[in-house]
Amino acid sequence: MRPADGSRLCTVPRSDDVDVSAAVAAARSAQPAWATLTPVERGRLLRELAVALQARRDELADAVVEEMGKPRELALGEADAAIEMGFFVAGEGRRLYGRTTTSAMPNRTVMATRSPVGVAALIVSFNTPLPNYAWKAFPAVLCGNAAVLKPSEHTPVSASLFASIANDILPPGVLNVVHGLGGEVGPPLVEHGDVDLVSFTGSAETGRWINEHAGRRLAKVVLELGGKNALVVCDDADLDRAVEWSVASAFSNAGQRCAAASRLVVFDAVYDDFRRRLVAGAGEYDSGPVISEASLQQILSSLESATVLAGGARLDRPGWWLEPTIVEGVAADAELSRRELFGPVTILYRVRDLEEAIELVNDSPYGLTSAIHTASIHRAMRFADAVQAGVVVVNGGTHGSEPHMGFGGVKQSGTGWREAGVEALDVYTEWKYLNLITDPSKT
Ligand code: NAD
Repeated sequence: MRPADGSRLCTVPRSDDVDVSAAVAAARSAQPAWATLTPVERGRLLRELAVALQARRDELADAVVEEMGKPRELALGEADAAIEMGFFVAGEGRRLYGRTTTSAMPNRTVMATRSPVGVAALIVSFNTPLPNYAWKAFPAVLCGNAAVLKPSEHTPVSASLFASIANDILPPGVLNVVHGLGGEVGPPLVEHGDVDLVSFTGSAETGRWINEHAGRRLAKVVLELGGKNALVVCDDADLDRAVEWSVASAFSNAGQRCAAASRLVVFDAVYDDFRRRLVAGAGEYDSGPVISEASLQQILSSLESATVLAGGARLDRPGWWLEPTIVEGVAADAELSRRELFGPVTILYRVRDLEEAIELVNDSPYGLTSAIHTASIHRAMRFADAVQAGVVVVNGGTHGSEPHMGFGGVKQSGTGWREAGVEALDVYTEWKYLNLITDPSKT
């Protein structure tokens, strides 16, 4: 369906366990030969793929505009981010560094090298589909794994296009796709005995289910989950910039960002001024539709008893549009403060000082990203040190990542892994320690 007007976009196969078995079998049979190519050669093919994606950047962005209704400029930026990830990871084919170390025993050389994990299930969210595929598929394949990609049921078109471009370049079976509803096609994939690694990006709820079920058979499980990210505005902040970043962080992509600023924590001394400017900024923002009627209804029902300062209503047009919404007067331990809504909704909190702000920010089940606006390096450093989050931004928005930077969170935002950057290589390889006795006659 098209979120922008609620019309039908396309029909897609509703894959079942038979399709999953076929995809896993294709991956299993392709993986050994793929892994015997040198990492440099795999990197060369992935660079070719990044070039091919670049040549079809407009087409990729068009698919995302159709299936998500987001502004074209945003979709183009996401296509570029996916392509950049491709180039970055392709370069790792010439590095894929291991380590050497010493031994307590003489005549011994010890080194650690990376091996592929095997067959990887890559299960992703709808929110930024192209980077979501690229963040997982490029490093998985570079490291010598074969993969089965399970895109969100909301974004089948971009996933098919991405995979068909990849399959013109990669050997058959290295990258496979299964479509369909998460609850139907996900379980047979997660529970398949031939899937060695499940790499998942999505909600904490689904992540918990995957961890339990893949955990039972002791598969490697990597989870990148939700956030309830806070942006703190101190009394010495540049308020114009703080408002600008808050609006963009809370409402871009209709708030459907794991890194969205869904909590704005503002010092008492500037609260009223900030609130006035924020409400004005939100009123002018075009955030795009949310992904589905179900999501819209869920967000609206969670706002029922809230004090809404701005927005809070469905727009009178076809599709799934919600006004950028600001709420205040919510207790830190209320459900609304703790649950991720994944929509264009942010909550304002009033605090006395930095210590109270830090306490409030950390009083959350999540810990993905965070931001502080201040002119004081001491406040910035104190916040960076004390905040429980995987990312800290000073005087900017609550960001995601760049291709060369690791990304992930603490607490219920993940299980300790980092995606992107060279950190992704740890997700898609296993370390192997080689002990080489250099002169057997001396042992
Ligand atoms: P979701 O958990 O509903 O779905 C994610 C994926 O899992 C989809 O492909 C879905 O079809 C599939 N799925 C659903 N049930 C499954 C099951 N039982 N077994 C296997 N797969 C199943 O999440 P969503 O609504 O698509 O995405 C929103 C969530 O993703 C938010 O919580 C957001 O914060 C998170 N997210 C996190 C990051 C990150 O890097 N930390 C990035 C983007 C989105």
